Amino acid sequence: MSSYARRRHELSKWLAQNELDLFIVSSRPNLRYLTGFTGEGISLVSHSEAVLITDRRYEVEAGEEAPDCQVIFAEQGYLREVASYLARLEQPRAGFESQHLTYANYRKLAELAEGAELVPTEGIVEEQRAIKDDTEIAAIRRAAQVIGKAVTQVVAELVVGVTERELSLRLREAILQAGGDDVSFEPIVAFGENSARAHAVSTARQLSQGDIVLIDAGAKADGYCSDMTRTVVFGDPTDKFIEIYQTVRQAQQAAMATIVPGTAAAEVDAEARKVIDSSPYAGSFGHSLGHGVGLEVHEEPKLGKNSESVLKAGQVLTNEPGIYLPGWGGVRLEELLLVTEQGAKPLTHAPYLDY
Ligand code: ZN
Ligand code: ZN
Repeated sequence: MSSYARRRHELSKWLAQNELDLFIVSSRPNLRYLTGFTGEGISLVSHSEAVLITDRRYEVEAGEEAPDCQVIFAEQGYLREVASYLARLEQPRAGFESQHLTYANYRKLAELAEGAELVPTEGIVEEQRAIKDDTEIAAIRRAAQVIGKAVTQVVAELVVGVTERELSLRLREAILQAGGDDVSFEPIVAFGENSARAHAVSTARQLSQGDIVLIDAGAKADGYCSDMTRTVVFGDPTDKFIEIYQTVRQAQQAAMATIVPGTAAAEVDAEARKVIDSSPYAGSFGHSLGHGVGLEVHEEPKLGKNSESVLKAGQVLTNEPGIYLPGWGGVRLEELLLVTEQGAKPLTHAPYLDY
């Protein structure tokens, strides 16, 4: 059984439990996860078959990537094909992804597929995707190696006068040179006071001696993402920087020590937050501690104050505390981890500078 067939089999168990005849997959990463197909389309997964509806633009990919799916090339839109498939079944109950199928498409499908019951679902395949299999972990590990190498390289090449944008471009190049397929998101490169913006957009600001340099970036390998952040000083760090850096590092290590299957995601976030909130920088960690990473750079589970998730073995998570002081700058350190029965295993192999 291919890993795709295995995943569909898992989904079909859920369908049976929920008395659904089939599942309409319209999210692109979910489509890829369940069929291997990387193009645009819709998949219909039932207990006995997997249908891939796409169009002639993807004729080659459909045959190569989804050999165990029945492929239909739509002539008049995907939804018409979905409807005519549903019309062949007797009053089918079909689950659809309410977070991905647009309202307009839902209405259109409801109109076309008279007699079918369309049942909204949320996060079903996403929950499945949160636990990675060995092939997925191997791909994420490659993506993590690529970004580790690329970030280490651009940090070593920092020179006075380089702009955030130039460094961001150089980082993209280093990712491709290191064997990555692409970036997993627009890299964040922030100098000096700009590093106080957790999600900074690269600007024409030039690097000067003594500046903080925050780089948050990721690579893609075989469709899977990585995500890491390093913060360094170009030149000599101030005592304040060292104190903040060490606090963030302690927060990260405290969180890491709690990661084991069965721990509440909110508790991991709380451990990191406790370290920062008992320092002179209380209240300066303004985002969640982390998130799952896989086919998408942000996926389940979320590691935040309000997360209701419980950690499970096979999840890949980021651990990224930060301290941000507007006008001064920020420090964020981000690690990619695999949750195992023995605790968190780092997937990112890039050195931390010893401040
Ligand atoms: Zn990141
Ligand atoms: Zn992240």
